[in-house]
Amino acid sequence: MVHFNNYINGNWEKSESNEKYESINPVDQSVVGSVDQSTINDLDKAVESAKSASLAWKKLSGAARGQYLYKAADVLEENLEDVAKLMTLEMGKTYPEAKGETARGVAILRYYAGEGMREEGDVIPSTDPDAFMYTKRSPLGVVGVITPWNFPVAIPIWKMAPALIYGNTVVFKPALEASVTAAKVFECLHEAEFPKGVLNMVNGDGAVIGERITENPDINGITFTGSDKVGKVVGQTALGRGAKYQLEMGGKNPVIVTKDADIDKAVEATISGGLRSTGQKCTATSRVIIDASIYDSFKEKLVEKVKDIKVGDGMQEDTWMGPCVSEKQLNTVLSYIDIGKKEGATLIHGGERITSSGLENGFFVQPTIFEDVNSAMTIAQEEIFGPVLALIKVKDLEEGIKIANDVEFGLSASIFTTNIQNMLTFIDDMEAGLVRVNAESAGVELQAPFGGMKKSSSHSREQGQAAKEFFTSIKTVFVKG
Ligand code: NAD
Repeated sequence: MVHFNNYINGNWEKSESNEKYESINPVDQSVVGSVDQSTINDLDKAVESAKSASLAWKKLSGAARGQYLYKAADVLEENLEDVAKLMTLEMGKTYPEAKGETARGVAILRYYAGEGMREEGDVIPSTDPDAFMYTKRSPLGVVGVITPWNFPVAIPIWKMAPALIYGNTVVFKPALEASVTAAKVFECLHEAEFPKGVLNMVNGDGAVIGERITENPDINGITFTGSDKVGKVVGQTALGRGAKYQLEMGGKNPVIVTKDADIDKAVEATISGGLRSTGQKCTATSRVIIDASIYDSFKEKLVEKVKDIKVGDGMQEDTWMGPCVSEKQLNTVLSYIDIGKKEGATLIHGGERITSSGLENGFFVQPTIFEDVNSAMTIAQEEIFGPVLALIKVKDLEEGIKIANDVEFGLSASIFTTNIQNMLTFIDDMEAGLVRVNAESAGVELQAPFGGMKKSSSHSREQGQAAKEFFTSIKTVFVKG
């Protein structure tokens, strides 16, 4: 069984706690591996190491920093299957999806490696004809990275790669549920031989280690992805001490299906967007808003297709959907299903824990569909983070968009329509950071900005060129001879 210590100052260092966290396979509750439970002292040591490495790392050219990222990409690529396998075992994502995510991590590293040689500022004409005015970018210094369990490779990399290329050093704390996979990624980063102290990793409870990351005065920026509940606390603490922060949080993402939509395509995308990864994506479709005139035909096709979904161990080739990540997450999903029933929604498919032979020790739930859902219901408002679809019937697009916007979140949204005016109206009126036409609500490209509106984000964006805005500060330079 694999075990990882803290990673501090370029070394694997045993935590002074002498305690470990064991990560379990959500398929059968066997132990997959473990990590040290870090202490606050371990974390502070990691921050000190990142701080000491900061100046030399910042002074390297972007091209030189990029070389480390290229090497990290190569090592991760060589280990792709091992990393993906560990991910499947630890958090239940199917193996093909886990391989896709790891390949994404490789691509992100390469994208930001190249970023070290791209422009970093603007020349701005001064009103003084003898002066030269321009902007340049400075790194923040030490960046704290706090991540969720649902994309244990891609999310840490899409935060750490830009942090590094723009000259920051990193202290990283993954979610415990996926900490072994995250540590495996660090093993690859270690092989890329970054200078000591540039990258550091500690593990532990969010309420202890995560909180200290937000409080440590030597951490200059905090990039957080997780629930809005935790994000709010992280943001408030960071703001209180003047640290820069970035919060990417939950969603309650709709797909709107208009009367002119290609119903078969809409059904496929609803299933893929809502149920892949067991609905545990921040961009997962959870509300399906359907024009009344095609409602019955859409519903019939949807239920027929969902019946064919094979739920099981993500390592098995024919498994389409794996388990919930943990017992806690399974219970959350089951409790929302219960609330849905109590509030008057009609359960038309699934709704139960799966206890069939071979799956009885796992955290499996049936893909679930409710109808007769209205926008005020809890299952239409709160993020469930499970394979639960709520069908909402509307009379036209105007009502559809109104309902789609009737939530506190604004991460992603999709529409299925063949009518150009419908597309344009949706693109303009939808309150979401990611709007997708004739494509599922989940789906992010690494070279494009990603982030939400409303309660889904602190309104900055990640990935692509947008990452530069968070991981650097603009310096306006005025030079006169
Ligand atoms: P979570 O909020 O419970 O935990 C996220 C991270 O915060 C973990 O590392 C956790 O240990 C840490 N943490 C917990 N308490 C903390 C505290 N008091 N101070 C500092 N850190 C603390 O979220 P989760 O269950 O791991 O992930 C699921 C959530 O993440 C969902 O809401 C999902 O929508 C969201 N998510 C958002 C995006 C996005 O890009 N918008 C992507 C993936 C997941």
